[in-house]
Amino acid sequence: MIKVFNTMSRSKEIFKPLKKDEVSIYCCGVTPYNAPHIGNARPFVIWDAIRRFFKKLGYKVRYIQNFTDVDDKIINAANEKGVTWKEISEKYIDVYFKSMDALNVRRADFYPKVSETMDDIIKMIQGLVDKNFAYVLDNGDVFYSIEQNKNYGKLSDRKLSEMLAGARVEVDKRKHNPMDFALWKSAKPGEPYWESPWGKGRPGWHIECSAMSLKYLGEKFDFHGGGSDLIFPHHENEIAQSQAFLGDENSFAQYWLHNGFITNGNEKVSKSNEEMVKKNKGFFTVEEVLTKYPGEVIRLLLLQTHYRNPLEFNEDRVIETREFFGKLAKAYWQLDDLARKVHAGEFVKDTSEKNFAITVSQAGGLVEVAERLLANFYAAMEDDFNTALAITHMFELSKEIDNYYREFAEGKISPVKIDGDIILRVQEIYMEMAEIIGIFEQPVPVEKEEEKSDDNSELVESLMKIIISIRQDARAAKNWAVADKIRDELKAAGIIVEDTPQGAVWKKA
Ligand SMILES: [Zn+2]
Repeated sequence: MIKVFNTMSRSKEIFKPLKKDEVSIYCCGVTPYNAPHIGNARPFVIWDAIRRFFKKLGYKVRYIQNFTDVDDKIINAANEKGVTWKEISEKYIDVYFKSMDALNVRRADFYPKVSETMDDIIKMIQGLVDKNFAYVLDNGDVFYSIEQNKNYGKLSDRKLSEMLAGARVEVDKRKHNPMDFALWKSAKPGEPYWESPWGKGRPGWHIECSAMSLKYLGEKFDFHGGGSDLIFPHHENEIAQSQAFLGDENSFAQYWLHNGFITNGNEKVSKSNEEMVKKNKGFFTVEEVLTKYPGEVIRLLLLQTHYRNPLEFNEDRVIETREFFGKLAKAYWQLDDLARKVHAGEFVKDTSEKNFAITVSQAGGLVEVAERLLANFYAAMEDDFNTALAITHMFELSKEIDNYYREFAEGKISPVKIDGDIILRVQEIYMEMAEIIGIFEQPVPVEKEEEKSDDNSELVESLMKIIISIRQDARAAKNWAVADKIRDELKAAGIIVEDTPQGAVWKKA
């Protein structure tokens, strides 16, 4: 049973797909006028993990994500650079795909563009005009009229009176209501335009998602996603347009899922925050971050926080995640090594050996734990797609694999045939988790830290022996000041010394 937090009801609901074993998803895409930053990437990585999960459960998934390739920001960028709007949008669509490929985001079923969906957009606007849900001004601008829409504000939980109070002072006098929004904008000189029943112009922003979701997913579909900054006005307006056009207030998206912001120093990451862009120069867009760190590490970081929570992004966190990823990768290689040995026929020892009972219980124990963690992993994903919790179960399994592998390497486990089957099953489970999280699809790093830290730990061990023996000498000479000084300074360095009847022992704090 899958439960999802629906922004519309502000509660967790049991997910019931419109069509049995099928899931339809629409997620608002990017405006390709510059390179996506890490905050832009978050919803696409999340929806990618959700899609992978549904596919694993046997659902047929249809996923649509648009490109807003007709927009003021693109036109401005084109004018600044002296190129066409199409050159700008094509360039940044390309950057978008490269960035997402590096994050293992699988392609959507369709990426409709505004410029290629114009007929459907115009048809929908005309439908709204015909039904008196929209009005045309003398200059050819078309506005959606919110007045007869009693559900307006339902998704964002706002009342019209509050919205009006919050509306900007300089209201467009030509609007019937200050909250009315543009469906079609008449062309200004030098702008790209399309022919329409209201003259040359281009669509407003919101209408495209209504037209595209209808074209590719139909009147009703399961999920609509996007960042929580899109709830109002964008998604509120999408609902208003679509339901008015279709004349059905149960039409359009059934479940609204919104992801939290990415923050940096507790501030929302956005391109419009110039100070933030400056502060994070060279480490702001996905492209930039990828020049220093692997995409799978960034992906893991994005999924290690539940999608609805804010996520703090900074380089220290990336480094931490890289270490964590290294631990997961280590278990990947350990299983790889064990599986090779199984295939090479090393797991064939005679079961009549006297340690057979121990062997079976050890590998059997591992697979038991793995099956339990897999069930926990699925339960976490079923509970509002809690990738953060799911990853902790995968990490638990990596530790169990590491334990088993060490014992195996130390010769404590005698590889018999049945263990081989068990190892292959554990590997299957581990890779099933990895596939849903979406890692280990690029060359998996081989962890070399282990040797280094082993060397260090030997060194630390012998140094500590020396220090403790000096302290013992000081104590024997009743030189308490020196003995205490050693103890206190070690403590400050993170090492605890305890005096026991058997002598002093030490441990890391
Ligand atoms: Zn949208």
